[in-house]
Amino acid sequence: QAPELPQEDIIFRSKLPDIYIPKHLPLHSYCFENISKVASKPCLINGTTGQIYTYEEVELTARRVAAGLHKLGVQQRQVIMLLLPNTPEFVLSFLGASFLGAVCTAANPFFTAPEVAKQAKASNARIIITQASYVDKVKEFAQENDVKVMCIDSAPEGCLHFSELTQADENDLPEVEINPDDVVALPYSSGTTGLPKGVMLTHKGLVTSVAQQVDGENPNLYFHSDDVILCTLPMFHIYALNSIMLCGLRAGAAILIMQKFDIGLLLDLIQKYKITIAPMVPPIVLAIAKSSETEKYDLSSIRMVKSGAAPLGKELEDAVRAKFPGAKLGQGYGMTEAGPVLAMCLGFAKEPFEIKSGACGTVVRNAEMKIVDPDTGASLPRNQAGEICIRGDQIMKGYLNDPEATARTIDKDGWLHTGDIGYIDDDDELFIVDRLKELIKYKGFQVAPAELEAMLIAHPEIIDAAVVAMKDEVAGEVPVAFVVKSEKSGITEDEIKQYISKQVVFYKRISRVFFMESIPKAPSGKILRKELRAKLASGNY
Ligand code: AMP
Repeated sequence: QAPELPQEDIIFRSKLPDIYIPKHLPLHSYCFENISKVASKPCLINGTTGQIYTYEEVELTARRVAAGLHKLGVQQRQVIMLLLPNTPEFVLSFLGASFLGAVCTAANPFFTAPEVAKQAKASNARIIITQASYVDKVKEFAQENDVKVMCIDSAPEGCLHFSELTQADENDLPEVEINPDDVVALPYSSGTTGLPKGVMLTHKGLVTSVAQQVDGENPNLYFHSDDVILCTLPMFHIYALNSIMLCGLRAGAAILIMQKFDIGLLLDLIQKYKITIAPMVPPIVLAIAKSSETEKYDLSSIRMVKSGAAPLGKELEDAVRAKFPGAKLGQGYGMTEAGPVLAMCLGFAKEPFEIKSGACGTVVRNAEMKIVDPDTGASLPRNQAGEICIRGDQIMKGYLNDPEATARTIDKDGWLHTGDIGYIDDDDELFIVDRLKELIKYKGFQVAPAELEAMLIAHPEIIDAAVVAMKDEVAGEVPVAFVVKSEKSGITEDEIKQYISKQVVFYKRISRVFFMESIPKAPSGKILRKELRAKLASGNY
């Protein structure tokens, strides 16, 4: 009998042809490649102050920031940390780091001091750029670890002022040779399992990802140079960093920076600056859908509403479509480790592609996608749900200092396993139906169960714990804990919640606590999260 031949992978590709991607360029050179055409056009608009920075100014200032960082002793491949809300200084610092061949890691400015310290330590940050109101969160760590602290708005005692960078002489920037495989961005993500890890995104990876979205035979497929793009999503998350900031720069569009989400201000800014593109996440879509204020504003400039980072229900999609009758509304699908964009809605740009409700787009160009059976690893045909896998130059180089976690996520053939369950239909549209991985998403923000479980178990009266997602109408999902308390403990749900709240940013707070005799586990010791989720779904807890 003939030996069974290995089954060939069933690979899905974009409906659009592959494009030329200048992968040899450092990220900043790629973003500013066409700057001569847009030099005096607005690049960044500060939504708070109205201040406008032209392309020319942004490029020059970023080079000065690079020279200033160099002068402060930051070297190529060293890490700078940003602890900032959305501000022009965020963009300038990121680009400055790129010019210098340095690496930028950004943390949520709402993080608690221990959360910031964890990321700063793990990434080996040499300088933290922040604002005066957050200095208390970084002071102790900075002193103990000889890390410089710089503020964008003032210079409290012991801190540097951002003007030291912007007033540096760009001619002092040394020649740096940047390899396309050098890391430029280091966002933190827990991926499919465990604690948050540094995701190494390279110049080549981000150039590829941006090109997949805005370059090629369909020039500016999604963005044009006359677009005004709303940036209310946090820049510390790769969605805004890549799909708004970097894509906006490459396209020569204006990026309207909103520091804090506020529905009234948002509507005001849309009307005032005639915003054309509005990237959102489902909770913002919900806020707009529910707002009665929308009728008071002229929102007709919007031509595209994009949603991503978490699932968007069909009812919500329809509700928000009614608010922007002239706009196209579609979803994208990203994951930090994937660079981050895996799939985008083609219906935004080109006839004859239509937008399918509930779909999160088709796989990006110059990439391959397959759907695999999570148990056997066999690749599946259309209309069968399995784990979504992606391959291409845009995916991460790996997790920082964690080859084991990298090997669990990117297999030997270069496929990145997302931990998301989905299928591809007859029109190449991807639908996400479930999540295999333990990650919880609160309004699109990551909550890693392992992080909360470690804190719970560290409590002297808690023997064991498991954290899973519970559905929530506003947040999408919230973390809830199953807890086994020690024999004589009288610890209450509220006490446990408070114990966690003190240690974490608001969206990681535990919403409910359920006490149990024991946590269901496989013989390997792995928590049987599916069983716990089923318990929640049945209401039997
Ligand atoms: P992050 O790395 O924080 O961007 O989180 C990535 C995860 O968010 C993905 O692996 C999905 O589980 C989820 N996600 C992102 N976009 C979508 C979408 N359009 N629909 C459903 N889930 C999404």
